[in-house]
Amino acid sequence: MFRILRYLILISLISSGYYIFISEYFQLSEKNILEKEIVKKEILEDKKEIIQEKKDKVKSPNINKNINKAQYFEKKIKILQGDTFVSILENLNFKQKKIYKIISKIETSFDLKKIKTGEIISVFENNLGEIKKIEFFKNSETIISVDLDKEINLNIKELTRDSFVESKEYTIKESLFSDGIKNGVSSDILVKIISLFSFDLDFQRDIKVDTVVSISYEFDEIVETGKLEYNDIKYASIIIDGKQLEYFKFITDDGYVDYFNREGKNVKKSILKTPLDGARISSNFGMRKHPISGFNKMHKGVDFAAPTGTPIYAGGNGIVEYVGRNGGYGKYIRIRHNNGYKTAYAHLSNYKKGISKGVRVNQGEVIGYVGSTGNSTGPHLHYEIIYQNKHINPLKLKLPSGKILEGKELEKFKEWYKVIYADHLSMLYE
Ligand SMILES: [Zn+2]
Repeated sequence: MFRILRYLILISLISSGYYIFISEYFQLSEKNILEKEIVKKEILEDKKEIIQEKKDKVKSPNINKNINKAQYFEKKIKILQGDTFVSILENLNFKQKKIYKIISKIETSFDLKKIKTGEIISVFENNLGEIKKIEFFKNSETIISVDLDKEINLNIKELTRDSFVESKEYTIKESLFSDGIKNGVSSDILVKIISLFSFDLDFQRDIKVDTVVSISYEFDEIVETGKLEYNDIKYASIIIDGKQLEYFKFITDDGYVDYFNREGKNVKKSILKTPLDGARISSNFGMRKHPISGFNKMHKGVDFAAPTGTPIYAGGNGIVEYVGRNGGYGKYIRIRHNNGYKTAYAHLSNYKKGISKGVRVNQGEVIGYVGSTGNSTGPHLHYEIIYQNKHINPLKLKLPSGKILEGKELEKFKEWYKVIYADHLSMLYE
């Protein structure tokens, strides 16, 4: 499904790119200049400023009238192969002396050789056809604006960002991603939603037709370019078969942006380092002499000594992929989690009733009981965490904390999420 979608996007990108190329090529070959119809991009503040300045300096009342009515017309010039800043200014009929002045002014803060083919230079004319301003991008965050008057002034302007929050709700007919795109949700946001819920859901298996996705997210519009940049998700909810999973963005007291459900539990359910209560570590991860064989061997897990019958918890949400005898491991369970993690539990005395292959378990749910089956010298749990088929030391597991908000921080969060939720509903339904 994803592959088809990717192809479709690719094909449409290529064909629209080709169309733009062809159409621009024909326009440009006529006249080196792409005269985007007369736009008065409301660069309001600037305009006011220029008009104000002009008013102050006015000598001829005639010009004054014109200036007052003046609108600045923006011409966009695309830099083509072989163009230089000088050749562009020459095409705009600037005199050599002026060109020299403009160039040397710009060169004080920008190396014009860095301007690339395909970039756009905006030229602003008043209605007397006089060029009053030239603008181009220094980089994605800044614009260089050259005011042309008797004096040439260089302004380096941070692009103006307007911030917005938007809410969307849609029902999945095909996939979270493709239906999201159909409903006008940006792919950047969809990727974030998938990563947000990846601790809870396996998107291949869990998402069903008629799953309802409801989201609220932040984005910036760069005023000068109209470009949209998507930021954080503020709220996300997925309802599958009437069961709702939802998360709210919250900045914790220690300054991290994180996601919590209404109870203040973190989205990131770390895998438990110790999947049983009251245990003591009897053997650590790493090389050791095997207590039974006497050989030096890598110990690929951690042993927790505990009385026979002590309940063992699932280390994280996941699906049981193995339950049964497994050689020296004795009675053994292995769970597959999302994000490439697996956990394994060995030497059990018994399995919890109902635990079988394919069963879904939640973190903290009892799956079995400590025992001493297989190669074991006494009752203990041998616990392994496997990441992308490699064993890792459970005690050194670097996973997010799975923080649970408490006390004042929880109170603050509860106030906060109510506001987010109310905003979300009002954006959806009002
Ligand atoms: Zn062990």
